[in-house]
Amino acid sequence: MPQEQKRFTLGLNLADYYYDAIQCCSCHQCRWIDFNYVQQPDFSWKCPPWQYEQFDAYGAEGKNRIVADLLTGKLDWSDPKLRDIVYKDMLCGACDLGCKRNLDLERQVLLESLRATLVEKGYGPLPQHQEMTRNIEETANIYGDDQAKRGDWIPQDARPAEKASLLYFVGCRASFRDTKVSQAAARIMKAAQTDFMVMKDEPCCGSFIFATGQMEKARKLAEENIKLMRESGAETVVFTCADGYEMVKVNYPKLLGISTSDLGFEVVHLVELVDRWVKKGTLKLAGEVNMKVTYHDPCRLGRMSEPWTHWEGVRGEWGLLEPTRLFRRGLNGVYEPPRDILRAIPGIELVEMYRHHENAWCCGNAGGVKEAYPDMASWTASERLREAKAVGAQAVVTACPACEEIFREVAGDGMAVYDITDLIVRAIGK
Ligand code: SF4
Ligand code: SF4
Repeated sequence: MPQEQKRFTLGLNLADYYYDAIQCCSCHQCRWIDFNYVQQPDFSWKCPPWQYEQFDAYGAEGKNRIVADLLTGKLDWSDPKLRDIVYKDMLCGACDLGCKRNLDLERQVLLESLRATLVEKGYGPLPQHQEMTRNIEETANIYGDDQAKRGDWIPQDARPAEKASLLYFVGCRASFRDTKVSQAAARIMKAAQTDFMVMKDEPCCGSFIFATGQMEKARKLAEENIKLMRESGAETVVFTCADGYEMVKVNYPKLLGISTSDLGFEVVHLVELVDRWVKKGTLKLAGEVNMKVTYHDPCRLGRMSEPWTHWEGVRGEWGLLEPTRLFRRGLNGVYEPPRDILRAIPGIELVEMYRHHENAWCCGNAGGVKEAYPDMASWTASERLREAKAVGAQAVVTACPACEEIFREVAGDGMAVYDITDLIVRAIGK
């Protein structure tokens, strides 16, 4: 039974969130988007597994009760249903900021810690997660592809420099499958006359390992990858993948008990750089792209991307924290840069979906859900495309190859799907 007066660290120890679990007041801000932002009742939910299952256990509220009962021994970790409830969850962060609207209770780290504890006790990850885990361990990429071919995406007309202050961390998807994204990124950086380098033997960022609760393995990867990034001499590491971006910026520090500012380099997504270049005039978006589009906020570029600040202290009477803590409430994610880029492209009309910015609905391709529960993942993505259609968009634009992947899989001919780099290269005429 956890001690409420005990000194603790904001991190991944489940027992430290007993207070957060028992303080749930059943307000359901974790399921609904903020009531004052609801424009269309049909698109007012924000927790995919809760809506899919229509059962409390699958949302944050139910998981609080489960955590409280696990920590007090009323529930058994070996219950087979528990694994299903814990892993049928994208860890999308929507409940975390919903809960902090009212009570400043931690939900994301509680859910991550729940998964981590399940793994520690030998009940996770799921068998469907083993293949990708093995691939990462044996080949350093999620696909099990030949790592020697990792650089095959590099286009002749936009090759990286041997040495530069900007390191492009390409990620598994854009290195091996969605190479259109990495090639576009290279051409965009060249057009902005910005040298970039890549790692000779770029490893996997470990986002999948973290998301499935395998924290010891994730911690080892974090240590190794930070060392490589520091040794590269990069001042800035740029990503085109929201998963990798959040993994390095937020989860590496969380795993290692440091702050984002301790990493020793800046972590940015390419949309942040492009936005700066366009506003400075060093990159011109002059080519017309005539299309009515909507922008899908990837969870890990939006509400989950705020910097991590290490905190240790005590929770005292009335739940007061000493010292006071800076809460990550999801409002300072990367929301405007991609929108400003789209608005700057001639011919593009940008319309918002009903759930946007911090209230965005997840794409479904996160938290190991697509691997273990493909039907729920596809349903989640289809719901997002239904919303895009409802606001009259011809295309969904996102800034993460994982979101793009699942949207394309479920879209068929019904909706065009683009990574934002695709539209930027068209606008710069490359
Ligand atoms: S928003 Fe927080 S307090 Fe409210 S029901 Fe959800 S988990 Fe409980
Ligand atoms: S993280 Fe997302 S999917 Fe998981 S319980 Fe919270 S809102 Fe639902």
